Amino acid sequence: MRVLITGVAGFLGSHLTDLFLKEGHTVLGLDNFVTGHRDNIAHLAGDARFEFVEHDINRPYRAPGNLDGVLHLASPASPIDYLELPIETLQVGSFGTYHALEIAREHRARFFIASTSEVYGDPLVHPQREEYWGNVNPVGPRSVYDEAKRFAEAMTMAYHTHHGLDTRIVRIFNTYGPRMRPRDGRVVSNFIVQALMGEPLTIYGDGSQTRSFCYVSDEVDGIYRLFMRGDHNPTNIGNPVEYTVRQLADLVVELTGTTAAIVHEPLPVDDPKVRKPDITRARETLGWEPVVQVREGLARTIDHFRTYVGSPLMNRRVARQSPADAAAAAGR
Ligand code: NAD
Ligand code: UDP
Repeated sequence: MRVLITGVAGFLGSHLTDLFLKEGHTVLGLDNFVTGHRDNIAHLAGDARFEFVEHDINRPYRAPGNLDGVLHLASPASPIDYLELPIETLQVGSFGTYHALEIAREHRARFFIASTSEVYGDPLVHPQREEYWGNVNPVGPRSVYDEAKRFAEAMTMAYHTHHGLDTRIVRIFNTYGPRMRPRDGRVVSNFIVQALMGEPLTIYGDGSQTRSFCYVSDEVDGIYRLFMRGDHNPTNIGNPVEYTVRQLADLVVELTGTTAAIVHEPLPVDDPKVRKPDITRARETLGWEPVVQVREGLARTIDHFRTYVGSPLMNRRVARQSPADAAAAAGR
């Protein structure tokens, strides 16, 4: 297959590209580096089966050659990124999804949208199964992400029913692993970076809120299976083992051996109190379930982040790559 992957320079997009290439496919990758980084795809530079185009998918794009699939992963994903980039986030979920769907329609290609557990909002049903419609504040700060993804799902279903497009919708639950931006603000990267730098680990609120953390190799395996042999129904892909944020902090402290303190900061507005996927559908339709335990996945991620210690990446917070960064990266 030859597939277009948007968001290819991001955390998940780059790992998914590696998997497609490993399985013998060809990838046309697209990104505008708003939250991703050239480093994530630098290892693909000499690979003849990988092509890259720098483009903002919020503008139309005509893909050269034939395509069998379009996987739309482009979107800021970390809460602090999408709160910093609210309009871009709404645009990439709406205009970006529309443009990606149009590319798929032109090529009669399969379309795949990366949706999120955030469509369930602050859930009133626990664990979350796909039939649950969610509890989202449509005007709260997180709505720029949640509603963009809900719109993206609706748009995808409309192309499926109205145009007969072959479509997939994955609802991704908190995923972590190598190639996350060290300062992207998500809890796993924050805790690991803080522990390695000897900074206090910042628990928001009392730490009793829960999340269920999936290691990246499991996540992209589930995404690949869904793309290859799933159907149009939304499908949760995540690790159902649930942790409180406090338990996660304790585990990172134990695994890094840090002497850093734990401090409490205010809980963000509308922060979901619980989150855990019901993965019955993925188990039954794809034969998929995660295999990497959180302890093992965290240890691998910590090893990876250790290689950043002493590099400017460890301190760079910006979501948007500065022109100076981009020029430096291009000259590398
Ligand atoms: P990321 O920020 O690392 O990657 C997103 C990529 O999309 C970046 O490379 C960014 O530059 C690119 N991008 C954003 N807007 C773009 C645009 N307009 N045009 C071109 N490229 C653009 O995030 P990630 O964690 O890899 O997430 C990938 C996808 O998976 C996102 O759609 C996200 O919503 C979804 N998701 C991720 C998680 C998770 O835990 N990682 C959970 C739920 C959903
Ligand atoms: N969180 C935290 N400390 C941090 C970053 C996040 O306690 O430094 C909490 C956050 O409030 C949320 C959970 O960890 O309850 C997961 O946050 P993240 O930003 O990783 O993703 P979310 O699931 O909220 O999209």
